[in-house]
Parts: sequence; structure tokens; C-alpha cells
Amino acid sequence: MSWENNVRKVEPYVAGEQPKQKDIIKLNTNECPYPPAPGVAECAKQMCTDNLRLYPDMNAQKLVDALASYYHVKPEQVFVGVGSDDVLAMSFLTFFNSDKPILFPDITYSFYDVWAELFRIPYHQCPLDEAFQIRKEDYMVPNGGVILANPNAPTGVPESMEVLEEIIRANSDVVVIIDEAYVDFGGESVLPLLEKYDNLLVVQTFSKSRAMAGMRIGFAIGNEKLIGYLQDAKFSFNSYTINMPTIEMGVEAVKDDAYFKEITGKIVATRERVKKEMTQLGFTFTDSKTNFLFATHKNVPAQQIFAALKENGIYVRYWNKPRIDNYLRITIGTDEQMDAMLHFLRQYLK
Ligand code: PMP
Repeated sequence: MSWENNVRKVEPYVAGEQPKQKDIIKLNTNECPYPPAPGVAECAKQMCTDNLRLYPDMNAQKLVDALASYYHVKPEQVFVGVGSDDVLAMSFLTFFNSDKPILFPDITYSFYDVWAELFRIPYHQCPLDEAFQIRKEDYMVPNGGVILANPNAPTGVPESMEVLEEIIRANSDVVVIIDEAYVDFGGESVLPLLEKYDNLLVVQTFSKSRAMAGMRIGFAIGNEKLIGYLQDAKFSFNSYTINMPTIEMGVEAVKDDAYFKEITGKIVATRERVKKEMTQLGFTFTDSKTNFLFATHKNVPAQQIFAALKENGIYVRYWNKPRIDNYLRITIGTDEQMDAMLHFLRQYLK
């Protein structure tokens, strides 16, 4: 017998590559190509490092209050974490505690099955249809909870509010989590449904639309009781997760709504322009409402294009997985970055 028999073994989530070279065009992990709001840099400059002696406010109250005021909810309805990965992991641990399987699509954020395995939560992956939309009947069966990314990743495909509401309504005996990591790029948030459904938890992040992936801020909004249970689990695990600079800089990011709208608007405009230009090169797409495109080419295999781009210093994301192995997920960068990619593709595909 070896001690290894008593180890919790997991197959970890594989994130997109974070290459060290400076001169590459990095379109592989859905980061924002623009800097955070100017107030964030100002805040960093003014930061009083004396306070680093002290533990941070474990409730991150300033950040919670800023988010509550921005989204017109009570502070008791807001939970913040170290990126939405932390918020989602804590939510799986707290809410998916049934013997019945939790449900999520076969093609979605590839961390969901990792958390389910880690926490030993039974799960069932429901196949998306040919257009990568969910089949709502799949979620109308006995289950231990539901998690859906909307818009979905890596497809970029949004679901209608009607379908999501039907799923939330039909599952009143479990928690339904809607992961809105990409909602700020033209998607529609289910936040207004919180008034009607107490089993709904909405999760968002500062990593994409607020240009702060490096800071690690995510948050959940739900009814007070739900958030209370989430806090009980969090404070039973690690209280001081959000550090003091993060709280201060996060508040600055939320304050500057004009900048937020400016950069998300720019990314949406670039996305639609690049889509038009790539269509002329023989690509087709899902109707992405995110900060990335999910693209396939009519004759050149995606894996080949992926390798050629990488060799030329342009990193996009590719998965050698059933149903999506002929697609590229391309993060929307600045106009200059996208022009460089288009320039390469025009030559390469000629
Ligand atoms: N949800 C989805 C659907 C994502 O694509 C990501 C980004 N990898 C996350 C959540 C987590 O993002 P973060 O932890 O940076 O908030």
C-alpha cells in the first residue's frame, strides 16, 4: 500500500498558453487589449503601502458596495472572489450538493467538469444542437443543479432570455448558475430575473470587459439567502482572499462607466469588422456576442491555421476535441493587432 492510494487525484484545467516573449500578438485567452480605467493606475500610484501590514477587509465591503450600487442590488446580494473561477468553484462546492447529476452542455467552459470531478459532484453533459444552442428539454429532467455560460464559451453563442427563464423556472428545487463572463460584449444579462427567482445565481468577472484579468476579481449576484450560504462556505475555507490593493483598484474600475462602455464598444466594433474581412477569406462564424470569434474555414483545417499563426507570433486558441476540432477561438485585440492577423491570413490563404 502506498500513501498515493489516499490522495485526491484530479486532472487539472488547462488554461491557454501564457508565452513569455514580448513581441507576439496574444489572442488566445480572451484578455482585454486595452488598459484598465485610468483611475486604476492613479489608485496604484497613490496606494499607501503602510496598510499592507494589516489584513484586508475580509468582506471587501467597498468593492461589494460599488458593485451593488452599479447593478442596483443590495450589498447583501453580492459576493466577490479571486476571479470568477474562485466564485464558480465556491458556488459548485456550496450549491451542488445533491446525489443527482448537475447539468451543463457538452461544449462549454472546460473548468466545469474539472470542478465537478474535484468536488466529486455527479454531472451530465447535455449535447448542444448543430448550431451550438442548448436544447432546453435536456434541462427539464431531475438534476442536482444547472450551470450555463451565457454567452457560451468557446462558441460565443448567446441563449434567449425566454429559454433561460424557462430553465430557471423549471428548476426551482436546485440552484441555476448563469456564468456571464462575456455578457458585456452585446449579450443580455439575466440579472433582472433575480426579482422573480430565488434559485438564480449570476456570475461575472473583471477579467474581460473591465480589463483586469491580472487583478483577479469575479463576483456573484443572487438573493440574500443564496449569497449568505456562499459566504458561509467561503469563510469556512479562506477568509482573506481579496487583497487590499485589489479592493481599492476594483472600486476605481467600477466607478468609470464611460470608460467601460468605450472599451467594450470598441471591441464589439472591431469584432464585427474583422468578421466581415475574414468572411471574404472563406471563414464562417457563430454569431458571437463576446470578445472573441469562433471561426472555421471552408477548406483549410483549423489546426493547420492555428499552427501557421503561432509560427508567425500570433497566438489563438485551438482544441483538438470532438465537434470543435475544426474551429479557432480568436480573441478580439486592438485594430492594429487584428490587421496584422488579417494581413498574415490573406498571404497564407492565397
Ligand atoms: N467563465 C468563463 C466562461 C470563462 O471563459 C472564464 C475565463 N477563462 C472564466 C469564467 C473565468 O475567468 P476569471 O477567473 O478570470 O474571472
